[in-house]
Amino acid sequence: MTDARRPLIAGNWKMNGSATFATELAQGVSVGAPGVLAELLVCPPSVLIPTVAAALNEGVALGGQDCHAAESGAHTGENSAEMLKDAGCGYVIVGHSERRTDHGETNEHVCAKAEAAHRAGLCAVICIGETDADRDTGKTLDVISAQLAGSVPAASNAANMVIAYEPVWAIGTGRTPTNDDVQEVHAHIRAVVKASRGDAAAAGVRLLYGGSMKPENAEGLLALADVDGGLIGGASLKAADFLAIAASCP
Ligand code: PEP
Repeated sequence: MTDARRPLIAGNWKMNGSATFATELAQGVSVGAPGVLAELLVCPPSVLIPTVAAALNEGVALGGQDCHAAESGAHTGENSAEMLKDAGCGYVIVGHSERRTDHGETNEHVCAKAEAAHRAGLCAVICIGETDADRDTGKTLDVISAQLAGSVPAASNAANMVIAYEPVWAIGTGRTPTNDDVQEVHAHIRAVVKASRGDAAAAGVRLLYGGSMKPENAEGLLALADVDGGLIGGASLKAADFLAIAASCP
């Protein structure tokens, strides 16, 4: 982490909560927000976004968990990036491994969604990460390179994208890579961004680690040179844990 990049601690609430739960969680995060230096972001289920928008204070950013690539039209059950923007979002997660696995999303789909986010004026949180089979066979960095090449729009820059490295095998499992492994992948991501988009993009883009981050392991992960925050699943559902992770940012 460097002074040039403000840490971002993002909560992916996934398909959890009710209006009451979401209101209480948003209020809990809001109460603690003034005490942390990191930028805080919460990404509730789309149906709860208006509820959370009403409960959050201005110090906490709001995001969607996914968007459709099209601006509008006959896409039953979907939300466009423009709709998220209209509902008060500044961010949208795209390419989460659960979308890639459960919905067959390819790098091309993810890139189109990130472009939609940019079109709507949202910052795209683009998720990438290897499977355990990839890691076991030494393919992690190749997989990461391919996902970056396919998922990141050409017009991406440090202002309109955040990249989240989430090893698939670490999500929701309680397992994490070693800190050295995380730093190796993050340094690789930054080098790929530098080669493809130049020094300013590489120096400014925020790289989040995601996968079983919790208060107990956050400090070591967030202290790594190329880790600029976290994408938090399970631990983002408790305001105290989410804020404790944020407070661990150097
Ligand atoms: C996630 O789903 O993005 C995630 C990181 O989940 P967890 O923190 O629960 O592993």
